[in-house]
Parts: sequence; structure tokens; C-alpha cells
Amino acid sequence: MTAQILDGKQLAQQIRSELAEEIVEFIQNNGVVPCLAAVLVGDDPASEVYVRNKRRACEAVGIDSQLHRLDASVPSEELLKLVAKLNKDQAVHGILVQLPLPRQIDSSRVLIAINPAKDVDAFHPENVGRLVQGRPRFLPCTPQSVQQLLVRSGIEIAGRHVVILGRSDIVGRPLSIMLSQRGPGGDATVTLCHSRTPDLAAVTRTADILVVAIGRPKFVSADMVKPGAVVVDVGINRTDDGVVGDVDFDAVREVAGAITPVPGGIGPLTIAMLLKNTLSAAESLEK
Ligand code: NDP
Repeated sequence: MTAQILDGKQLAQQIRSELAEEIVEFIQNNGVVPCLAAVLVGDDPASEVYVRNKRRACEAVGIDSQLHRLDASVPSEELLKLVAKLNKDQAVHGILVQLPLPRQIDSSRVLIAINPAKDVDAFHPENVGRLVQGRPRFLPCTPQSVQQLLVRSGIEIAGRHVVILGRSDIVGRPLSIMLSQRGPGGDATVTLCHSRTPDLAAVTRTADILVVAIGRPKFVSADMVKPGAVVVDVGINRTDDGVVGDVDFDAVREVAGAITPVPGGIGPLTIAMLLKNTLSAAESLEK
């Protein structure tokens, strides 16, 4: 069997064109353009690329974007002052502080300082708490991408066994909560695995849907996958062979029923979800 390819790039384009139409309508109704403020501290090349791509994506759908650059040696207080200014600025609807931050800065202090109503990454404890309680304000971008990809590809989630590899605060853990919640896009039985899970392959082979977010190039081999399973690869690993996922794509596609490629899978969808959250922040703030 050769797996169906779940084309995240194409789906992201579709979502972006839906958003572009909603944004035109929002601007007509409110006389205000949604605006995302990105904060970039230091000159990490990967972060530069991420922020540039996010700003370009904003522009393409009609969202204004601002870039606030701070030096790598900036003290926490100065970054917190900038966040406080953006929190108050009525022209700014979404705030994105690009991670990782330099060592001298306590990231959790910065993330908690962002106005939760403008926290489009959904990392603020209030937004995490709301997600856990099943009444989210924003869904975190990468887990939301995985859920949207499954739903929009017509893959049944309810009643299925989802195995997630990786328990990070930005991908695995929130995704485990979202897919196990009651209602549309949820109702799965979820197993969350990590580096202390014994006999990982025995667990992954029980998955109807296997989501992998561990940051280990081509870690998931064909013998870890149940024939016909849906495999979603969140990993982005820069190697000598270029960008590869956490799944050995060429081998696993021969076993799986459906699979996401890397690149062109979850990555492009993540930016589309950021745009969606920015519009939704603007809708709430301009009500
Ligand atoms: P983290 O490093 O924060 O977390 C990795 C998780 O994987 C941890 O829970 C860790 O376990 C687990 N893990 C690591 N090695 C193993 C192993 N050998 N067996 C089982 N579990 C293991 O990673 P992130 O969640 O931030 O990112 C994961 C991947 O997803 C990366 O490649 C990253 O680049 C990518 N990513 C992609 C995004 C996108 O938009 N497509 C967005 C965000 C991330 P433990 O907790 O025990 O240490």
C-alpha cells in the first residue's frame, strides 16, 4: 500500500484564501485593519526566517504587521516594557514574541506579561487553562494545524486511538487535550508518549492516528506503524540532506494509509493558524 499524501501546503492556501475574504469583510464592518506585532530578540537566523514568513503571510491575507527588534543582550525589563506598550496599543490585536529568547530572559515571565486577549500563540497560562477546561479563546497554532488537517481531510477522529510522540507545551501536550475533548475534532482516546515511555514501538503500533513531534530526524520507522494508520509528522529537522521530519517518510508511506510530507505538511498550516488567531483576536477586541 502507498499512503495518501496529506498536502498541508494546499490546505494552508485554501485556509488563507478563506481568511482573506473574512478579513475584507472585517475591515468593511469595523473600519480597522487587523494587526499582528512580532517581537524578535537577537539575530537567530531560524527565528529571522520564521518571523519574515509570518509577516509575509500576514501581508498576503490583508493583516497589518509590525516588527519590533531588540538586541540579543536586551535586559528582561526592556522586553517587558515593550510588551506592556503593545498590550495597550489599540491598533495591535495580536502579539507574537518569537521563541527561543536569549538565555538572560525568563521566557515564562514574558509570556505571562502578554495580554491574554492578544496572545495569538496561546501560550499564556490563562489561555492554556481555558484550553484544558474546554472553552478556548485561541487554539495553539501547531496543535490546531494537526486537528484541522485531520478534520478537513475527512479523517475520523472520534473513537480512534491517537498516539502522540512528544509532550512539549507547544505541540504534544495541548494536542493531547484537544483531541481527547468532547465534540467535533475530539472524542479520541489519546496516548501521550515521551522519552521515558518503554517499548515505544509496541505503543505506536496500536495507533490509528500517529502524531510525531520529537525533533529526531526520521525516528519513526515502518515497523513502528500499523498498516493503514494515519501518520502526521510535525518534526522539522535541518540535516545535511535538507529539511526532514521525525518520520522516515519513504519507508513509512509504504505502510501508512495517509501521511504528511515534510516540508509541505504541518509547517505551512501553522502560519495559517496564526493568521486565523489574529483575525479572531481583532474580532473580539473590536466588538
Ligand atoms: P521539544 O524538544 O520541546 O519536545 C520533544 C518531546 O519529544 C519531548 O516530550 C521529549 O520527551 C520527546 N522525545 C524526544 N526524544 C524522544 C525519543 N527518542 N522517544 C520518545 N520521545 C522523545 O520539541 P517541540 O515539541 O518543540 O518540537 C518537536 C518537533 O516539532 C521539532 O522537530 C520541531 O522543530 C517541530 N515543530 C514544528 C512545528 C511546525 O510548525 N511544524 C512547530 C513546533 C515544533 P521528554 O519530555 O521526556 O524529554
